[in-house]
Amino acid sequence: MNELKGKKVAVAGLTFESNSFAPGLTEIDQFERYLMVEGPGVLTSGLGKDEIAGATKIAHDAGIELVPTFSADGGCGATVSDAAYAILKARLLASLSKVLDQVDGVYLRLHGAMTTQSCEDVEGDVIASIRELVCPNFPIAVSTDFHAHFTDKMAKGTDLISGYQTCPHIDFYETGARAMKLMVAALTDGGKPVLTYRKLKLLASSEGHDTSDGPMREVLDRLHEMEKIPGVLDATVYCTQPWLEVEELGWTAVVVTENDPDLGRKLADELAAMMWDRRERVMYSKRDVTEVLEHIQKTPSSQRPYVLADGSDSPSAGSSGDSSYLLANLLKTPIDDEVFMTMTDAAAVLAMVKAGIGGEVSVSLGGTIAPNFFTPVAVTGKVITLCDGVYQSKYPSKMMNSGITGVLRVGKINIVLTSKPAFMLDYQLYLRVGLDVTTAKIVQVKSAGSYRAYYAPLAYECIDFASPGASDSRLPKLPFTKPRRPLWPFDRDIVDGWY
Ligand SMILES: [Zn+2]
Repeated sequence: MNELKGKKVAVAGLTFESNSFAPGLTEIDQFERYLMVEGPGVLTSGLGKDEIAGATKIAHDAGIELVPTFSADGGCGATVSDAAYAILKARLLASLSKVLDQVDGVYLRLHGAMTTQSCEDVEGDVIASIRELVCPNFPIAVSTDFHAHFTDKMAKGTDLISGYQTCPHIDFYETGARAMKLMVAALTDGGKPVLTYRKLKLLASSEGHDTSDGPMREVLDRLHEMEKIPGVLDATVYCTQPWLEVEELGWTAVVVTENDPDLGRKLADELAAMMWDRRERVMYSKRDVTEVLEHIQKTPSSQRPYVLADGSDSPSAGSSGDSSYLLANLLKTPIDDEVFMTMTDAAAVLAMVKAGIGGEVSVSLGGTIAPNFFTPVAVTGKVITLCDGVYQSKYPSKMMNSGITGVLRVGKINIVLTSKPAFMLDYQLYLRVGLDVTTAKIVQVKSAGSYRAYYAPLAYECIDFASPGASDSRLPKLPFTKPRRPLWPFDRDIVDGWY
């Protein structure tokens, strides 16, 4: 305890998950809407539950003083514009530069899957840019998402990298704590953490990444055994965000040891082999929506709610949230019971504001952002609710802003219409507009698997249905051009699974 009293570590953050198939570009306003903060607010913006909070606890226990600098979070979405990244990078580096001569290390909260128009590896670029400002041994600790696009450049920039070990992600705090433990190890006299990794020719959609059960649970169980081996400091397996047009795309196993690269390599290879051996089992197949709706129609009224996941239009995987696919199918196969669903449609929200609460509107819904995936559906309904769309999310723990948001009731279908794409990993958006998800027969979530952390405990059944969209689990259906080949599941005859 307090063995590192007098040491100081700067804290900065830049988090965003790109989806290369979502149309358009993400501009700086999205970061302004989510989070852009300088100074002490960097340490508290995660409401005590994020990676920075976990890192803070470990730093305090070790006697390290934290120096907050700059942090930005844009959530998820289309590729970030070069102009937006230029602003973010300049602010981050300017803020860090002011304190670099006073600190002994830098801790970065990153996501790991941010891309721009001209940069496939923002995190590698950020780490390399900081490395240029400091000496080769200066410790830079990094925490990332489980879905980081782990690159050679990131590994070249620092040995101190920890990623989430859960999917759905429930270890934000713990991951920050692990990254700061690596910092503590690096700052301790004689300490020399060394990172080793193995990249795989393997990709799978997010629904196959679940660590609470099945193949990835088996891998994580072994990983946690490895963490107890003397000399092992940390381990992460990266089931990369799959909807990225980047050359180095693929899963990675990472092990950090106390200066024992031979042990690290052996263990990283073992984890990589476990993942490769499970490649068939991490493939996920979804159900046909008509068959699902016909089945639900026949079930007793007491069986509720059925949680129907439209993972192909998941805003938390970067999709645009404007899919009308379920709505179109509900109109074809009506359910004589309460349905809750969400859709991003700024024009429809404006029409609802004009009509006011209680007013009737006729609108075309969906396909406003991604017409390449979705077709508008014409409906007439009554405006039930209107609000500012600001609410506190539990997963992730932060304030959200979906822009002006309202509920349009079409028969028994309650459509939550947001002006901006909204994460659906928990039910806080439904609560914000007065909808209790336990009362509905069907609750739609737009999430590629991670919704289960909050929804599975209250659902009668969770069902993932097949649909089009920028985060379609059927990866070969999407127009990938950049990932190096061969790559599973595009190429099924790969003999050697790793690089
Ligand atoms: Zn993730």
